[in-house]
Amino acid sequence: MSNKDYDITRNTDDVVIVGGGLAGLFCALKLAPRPVTVISAAPLGQGASTAWAQGGIAAAVTESDSAEAHAADTIAVGAGLVDETIALGLAREAGARIHDLLKYGVPFDRDLEGKLAVGREAAHSARRIVHVRGDMAGMAIMSALIDAVRATPSIRVIEGYAAEALLTEEGAVSGLQLRPVGDALAKPVTIASREVVLATGGIGHLYAVTTNPTEASGLGLAIAARAGAVIADPEFVQFHPTAIMVGRDPAPLATEALRGEGATLINDKGERFMLAQHPLAELAPRDIVARGVFAEIAAGHGAFLDAREALGAHFAGKFPTVYASCRAAGIDPMRQPIPIAPAAHYHMGGISVDAYGRTSLKGLWAGGEVSSTGAHGANRLASNSLLEAVVYAARIAEDIEGGTIAAPARSPTVSVAPRNRGMPQLTEASLRAMMTSHVGVIRDGDRLAEAVWSFAAIERDSGNIALRNMATSALLVAASAWSRRESRGAHYRIDYPTERPALAHRTMTTLAAAREIAASLSERTAARIPQPMLVVSD
Ligand SMILES: Cc1cc2nc3c(=O)[nH]c(=O)nc-3n(C[C@H](O)[C@H](O)[C@H](O)COP(=O)(O)OP(=O)(O)OC[C@H]3O[C@@H](n4cnc5c(N)ncnc54)[C@H](O)[C@@H]3O)c2cc1C
Repeated sequence: MSNKDYDITRNTDDVVIVGGGLAGLFCALKLAPRPVTVISAAPLGQGASTAWAQGGIAAAVTESDSAEAHAADTIAVGAGLVDETIALGLAREAGARIHDLLKYGVPFDRDLEGKLAVGREAAHSARRIVHVRGDMAGMAIMSALIDAVRATPSIRVIEGYAAEALLTEEGAVSGLQLRPVGDALAKPVTIASREVVLATGGIGHLYAVTTNPTEASGLGLAIAARAGAVIADPEFVQFHPTAIMVGRDPAPLATEALRGEGATLINDKGERFMLAQHPLAELAPRDIVARGVFAEIAAGHGAFLDAREALGAHFAGKFPTVYASCRAAGIDPMRQPIPIAPAAHYHMGGISVDAYGRTSLKGLWAGGEVSSTGAHGANRLASNSLLEAVVYAARIAEDIEGGTIAAPARSPTVSVAPRNRGMPQLTEASLRAMMTSHVGVIRDGDRLAEAVWSFAAIERDSGNIALRNMATSALLVAASAWSRRESRGAHYRIDYPTERPALAHRTMTTLAAAREIAASLSERTAARIPQPMLVVSD
């Protein structure tokens, strides 16, 4: 059913899923034949990180591998904060979910014997990444799921509307406030539901340098936090070490699998700088590689991914997506090193959920990147995020199915800030620039304090709801990064460069707590903030 067949101002559904990426669509399919409405800010297939995934899905599906080994790798990378039971559960359910995806039509690559072909990625002790046509996993998964969703009569899809507020009554979810994308001045509409699943993806687009689509602006995280949900580990943001720097926003990605195939990282003198930094060199955990690349660029030596020897003439056939991105920028990766930089890529933090994807708010579940399950800890093992999205989407569907059917929702009458202002581009750009410079790969207390103070001001004063929601998520990330006085996993502070065993616990926070941190910092920080950063230009 398309938008025009469905009057969203009148109809209500038992289950509303916000997000049309892997987590949202898989959950909708698993709930069938139960009626579900999927709301997606962008048309299905666009505006979802899933479609851009190049590596694939981590799954211990070969005889020489095991769920225990997969969980052990996940735990090792997560720097002391991975919930071990969750990591093992994820690894154990991988085979069943890959089987589901095959059933929905995803054409995973196979070897000569017809078994699933598996690739290797950084920090995995075995080859266990299932993939499609080399680096086309995300596109192939989305295309198969979209076809399956369109062919399922119980699923209604509303495209082009963004959820901008979660409505609650007495601590339980009662519905959502939506607005057409790209029309800030349009009247908002409300949709009633007592069972809402947030599957809105990550926060990468809060950063000026990112691999994520525009829609990954942290809006789902923000609306849950504004409704009072507990947020977990927001300070842990993974930076991909090898975004291709050709002046595009978002930056195209050179997949980790290239380094798995032997591509090296070099500076402008042709030196392999990672050899001096970690025994695994280019295959070290992402945060270490990202900092190595960042430091090389900061020292003025530049950083490049060199696949000339490892792949040469096979580049285009094995990595068609990366090849196309390079060629569009005039680079021939078979003959030239590719210029790269670290970019905001994946959010380990998110809305805190239990093993069934339940949040702290009654009637609200969260799945995929917007959630924080405890599976990734302080750092994510490559290709575990698509796995987490499918495993939790299935668990959420099962939990909703197994629960008592919620009483039909009444149309919510409360509307959150019905009047809106246009998006002030200058403030949005300043916020994104500040996330990259102050809350990025290398952090310190002073700059984090400035960021907290600035984001709290935008969050408080902006008359544009989308910008306010972006500032809400930015504030949560910056305030928790300021509070964590150590370096752990993807969170690195030059003023606290080591891990502190006493801090080996996950962060559980709320928007109210982040605002308190901002208030406590305001006076000291106000004195230092450059004037333009104070302007909320709307
Ligand atoms: C370039 C790139 C490559 C990657 N490669 C891999 C990989 O190889 N393996 C791996 O495991 N992971 C990879 N990841 C990470 C992985 O793709 C994501 O973590 C995962 O796809 C997230 O799925 P999701 O369903 O949670 O969100 P998404 O796929 O991002 O979908 C989010 C959906 O929510 C919608 N939306 C957002 N906000 C709103 C709103 N307010 N209202 C309505 N709709 C909204 C969006 O339009 C979209 O439909 C990669 C990420 C990127 C960016």
